[in-house]
Amino acid sequence: MTQKFPRKRALEFLAQLARENRLDALLITDLANVWYLTGFRGSEGTVIFSPDQRWFLSDFRYQEQAAQEISGFRIKIFRNKLKEIKKLLSRLRVRRLGFEPSGLSFQLYQALKKELKGIRLVPLKKSLLEIRSVKDPDEIENMKKAVNIAEAALAQALLHFRAGIRELDFAAELEYQVRKMGSDWYAFDTIVASGWRGALPHGKATGKMIKKGELVVIDFGTICHGYHSDLTVTVSAGDPGKKARRIYQIVSQAQQLAIAAVKPGKTAKEIDQAARDYIVAQGYGKFFGHGLGHGLGLAVHEEPGINSRSLTLLQPGMAFTIEPGIYLPGKFGVRIEDDLIVEPGQGRVWSRSNQPLKIIE
Ligand code: ZN
Ligand code: ZN
Repeated sequence: MTQKFPRKRALEFLAQLARENRLDALLITDLANVWYLTGFRGSEGTVIFSPDQRWFLSDFRYQEQAAQEISGFRIKIFRNKLKEIKKLLSRLRVRRLGFEPSGLSFQLYQALKKELKGIRLVPLKKSLLEIRSVKDPDEIENMKKAVNIAEAALAQALLHFRAGIRELDFAAELEYQVRKMGSDWYAFDTIVASGWRGALPHGKATGKMIKKGELVVIDFGTICHGYHSDLTVTVSAGDPGKKARRIYQIVSQAQQLAIAAVKPGKTAKEIDQAARDYIVAQGYGKFFGHGLGHGLGLAVHEEPGINSRSLTLLQPGMAFTIEPGIYLPGKFGVRIEDDLIVEPGQGRVWSRSNQPLKIIE
């Protein structure tokens, strides 16, 4: 399914932002927002949006690509970015320019301030992230593909999983499969955390050898046309013992409770609560120290946050992860992470990380 760019909902949102803040134009520099608006997938892109003109700016490397990927924007290829921005803004008679605080380095902000004398720079209080949190059909399709790629890669890589290999060996095998199956790139550094390292929620793969009887937390992601998957499974290299099996059960059950709680109109906080209450009741509340999940899309972490503070109301089309974990310092950790989308009456899970504990001999 191909999406027609620019995205209509996004343009309406920007027009409203401009009106509300009496801005003559908006400067969009956050690259994921530029991708979202224009469909452009290069590494240098800026959008200038005014109520009656839309410009896309990039450099010479992207002349061809911009012409192919972008419609609905006038394209400007620059030699000097600041000078070109200045020229366009004066042509549009801009006096008040909105900018994205999160999309601008302090250095670029200062340079703009110096270059754009007479133009008032106004930080935007709302972000396109709000619009991005509800996915269009083409985005959903890409995310589902990303999940399928991830699961196919994991299944292949697990054929090589056994006690006696290093975390790095398994990470390399998994990353090789991720590439081979067609992911644009890796979503982030692959986490392979075995035994005591599993208690580190972000334990990137190291040279540590996976020993018999150890649980291994594997957290990785793929990208399809810019859209991310993010999955975690916990598997075992031989029997991990009764306690580890019990903890796995608790995390698995907590995740299922949270998934069952997903429904439009609920707050993100309530979903977090569903998993957390259960883990607390089992006596492991203080070993689950992070939020339950996060929005997923053009970024690995985006809106909505699924945590105990988030009052975001769930809406159909929101996609996010649910990833409870229990981490016992010095011993082991368990996390199970699936990706899902909010549908009219329920949450629909795309992935199948929550399985009975796989004990691989
Ligand atoms: Zn993850
Ligand atoms: Zn995640």
